[in-house]
Amino acid sequence: MTTELAHVEAQIVEIPDYPQPGVIFRDVMPVLSDGEALRTVAKALLAPFAGQFDVVAGIEARGFLLAGAAATVANVGLVPIRKAGKLPRPAASVPYQLEYGTEEVEIQRDIAPGTRVLVMDDVLATGGTIAAAIELVRKIDALPTGIAVLMELDGLGGREALGDGLPLHTLFHG
Ligand code: AMP
Repeated sequence: MTTELAHVEAQIVEIPDYPQPGVIFRDVMPVLSDGEALRTVAKALLAPFAGQFDVVAGIEARGFLLAGAAATVANVGLVPIRKAGKLPRPAASVPYQLEYGTEEVEIQRDIAPGTRVLVMDDVLATGGTIAAAIELVRKIDALPTGIAVLMELDGLGGREALGDGLPLHTLFHG
């Protein structure tokens, strides 16, 4: 790992028992508020995917922020994947399982069929969120080509749940 990335990793704050007992929340906000760290992260998330995507898709809410920074660095557009009920023109929706209850995400059809999409989020835990995001991208006839995540929580099965169909790039492990 480069010195710059090690510096970024040290800025991620672990919050025990948030938002519920037993969860260690990874707070990436300090990384976002440091301009140099944000640029380092954006470049590092994109690095393995050069020439393989036309847009970056960010998952609400922290994924938006990383994807926005990365899209600017890569000089491509951004496609938001939002929680159900937030987009004015949803074209597809996918429900997925959370530890307790279900969640649903939606996407608009604002990109052409066949557009190559790099899916981005802050944390990969069980993988349900990213799996739903990939399904959404396919539902609007776009083509997911990779997954980039700031932190992968080992032992929660996310990598296994996503399978090996798409390249998964994670900067840090927790
Ligand atoms: P999952 O669908 O289980 O992979 O959960 C990933 C989504 O939940 C991401 O959008 C994360 O922002 C959020 N998330 C899950 N666990 C954590 C955690 N320990 N710290 C921060 N965010 C988390």
